[in-house]
Amino acid sequence: MDRIKNWFRSLGSKMQSFMYGRYGYDELSQFLSKTALLCVIVGLFAYPGFFCGLAMALYLVTMFRMYSKNIMKRKQERDAYLRRTQPLRDWQALQKRKFNDRKTHKFYRCSQCKTSLRVPKGKGKIKIHCPKCGAEIVKKT
Ligand SMILES: [Zn+2]
Repeated sequence: MDRIKNWFRSLGSKMQSFMYGRYGYDELSQFLSKTALLCVIVGLFAYPGFFCGLAMALYLVTMFRMYSKNIMKRKQERDAYLRRTQPLRDWQALQKRKFNDRKTHKFYRCSQCKTSLRVPKGKGKIKIHCPKCGAEIVKKT
């Protein structure tokens, strides 16, 4: 029993020293590996050669990034990825909020600056003041 424990412990420390100074897993790697998994699933139904090849390539890129020692460069890639996907992540967060608050709040979009406005439900006809641009819209809640 102890031998197995020690074996795992030494494996753990080996992994740790192997990963030392390497970049590791980040949001971009997560995206790449999820896309790879999706390719495998799609490949089960159509064009298996193409999608499995693509999945393999994506996994290779993910591996390369994880074990890379060029941390600066990987961070730059991650930042660019996060910047580009910011609108999408904002949208996802809004959808989630809309869903969670669906019983208590209504969401409107400001007619001028398109900001999302969250107002309590069931208050009748109300004037909504946009905190961003100051425009006022009248809505029934
Ligand atoms: Zn506005």
